Amino acid sequence: MSKEIVIVGGGPVGLFMGIALLEHGFSCTILEQRKELISDTRSLGIHPVSLELFDQLNLTETFLENGIKVFEGIAHTGKRLLGAVTFEQCPEPYNYILINPQNETERILRDEFLKRSPSSYKTGIEVTHIQQGSDHVDVHYGENGHKKNLSADFVIGCDGKNSRVRQAIGIHYSGKRYPDTYIMGDFEDNTGLNTNAAVYLPAEGLIECFPLPGNKRRWVVKTDDYVNSPTAEQLSALIKDRIGHSIPVSTNSMLSSFGVQHLMAESFQKGRVFLVGDAAHVVSPIGGQGMNLGWLGAWNLALRFKNGTTEGYSTSHQVVVKKAAMRAEMNMKIGRKSRFPLLKETVLKGILHSPLRHILAKLFTMRGLDNWWV
Ligand SMILES: Cc1cc2nc3c(=O)[nH]c(=O)nc-3n(C[C@H](O)[C@H](O)[C@H](O)COP(=O)(O)OP(=O)(O)OC[C@H]3O[C@@H](n4cnc5c(N)ncnc54)[C@H](O)[C@@H]3O)c2cc1C
Repeated sequence: MSKEIVIVGGGPVGLFMGIALLEHGFSCTILEQRKELISDTRSLGIHPVSLELFDQLNLTETFLENGIKVFEGIAHTGKRLLGAVTFEQCPEPYNYILINPQNETERILRDEFLKRSPSSYKTGIEVTHIQQGSDHVDVHYGENGHKKNLSADFVIGCDGKNSRVRQAIGIHYSGKRYPDTYIMGDFEDNTGLNTNAAVYLPAEGLIECFPLPGNKRRWVVKTDDYVNSPTAEQLSALIKDRIGHSIPVSTNSMLSSFGVQHLMAESFQKGRVFLVGDAAHVVSPIGGQGMNLGWLGAWNLALRFKNGTTEGYSTSHQVVVKKAAMRAEMNMKIGRKSRFPLLKETVLKGILHSPLRHILAKLFTMRGLDNWWV
């Protein structure tokens, strides 16, 4: 039980990993290169499977104080209503997706980690290299311009897509880039949709919008090509052309572009070193599951530490990641331009008005991915 575990990276997954390890009685230290929290709000959706894990770590209440509960996602062609995916029939109490911007999520997780272990979250530390010995791992890092090192029993790389930890242990990271590109922006909410999410599937390509705290709404719009410097006017014109809705351009508070990849490390473990979160896998953000998938992996690993053997972490979580990646790919395909828009509309309408919509609700809420521990 006196094992010293070093977590490299204090993003949403590293912080959750730390809280889960502390909960199971392990001592751990988080090394984070940033001195400040991110201002970036990129991920929004917290799924019921994660809320159930938060319950076990006494985190749920704080998240519920901050987030918005989305019970329903409405689907449109832009001109015609197709139907709705309602999460209200999903298992209670978490029969909704909680919306919380990523910077808020990281703030809550950081504060919760600090409450449990105030001196174990170290910022301004950039891990430069790690080296495994037979019974320990040397972690080399830079702090205030000085080179330093420490020794740990285990190292967990939660250091994101370009993970130094993964590179240091020579684990191959591969996958594919999809042709899909998007721009997204936050604006004052003038839709009247309240806390509902909406997905529009006009022939020209997907538009999604989600409620945000402070009466704002995030719009995500599929583009033909990657847009280097998107403008609010551009986003607004695409929305107006495709679905006829005018967003309040002058209230724009965030804009960005993104392309989509699926990447996975060939293994999530080598000796005493583990990879969790984006360091191990990246899935398409359409469907909003990457961070949640990282939390599932972190929980899987923490339970294995508790049970005294980490064997099986890599293979079991890879199965979960592959399933999630397939679902994310399906979400993206539905949102692509269609050569047969009327056929697509008829099929989707059929699904949304049949019991199959409950299966969709399950897929969107990440059910059926994570049942390896039951
Ligand atoms: C547009 C967009 C929307 C998204 N929406 C969703 C969503 O709705 N739901 C969802 O679940 N996911 C979503 N995601 C995915 C989600 O943002 C990522 O999966 C998540 O950020 C991964 O968290 P992480 O902690 O693994 O990595 P990161 O967030 O990348 O954090 C890594 C941390 O490690 C630190 N670090 C890196 N290198 C070092 C080093 N050498 N030494 C010390 N520290 C280091 C970094 O500073 C950082 O704090 C979205 C992604 C995008 C791009």
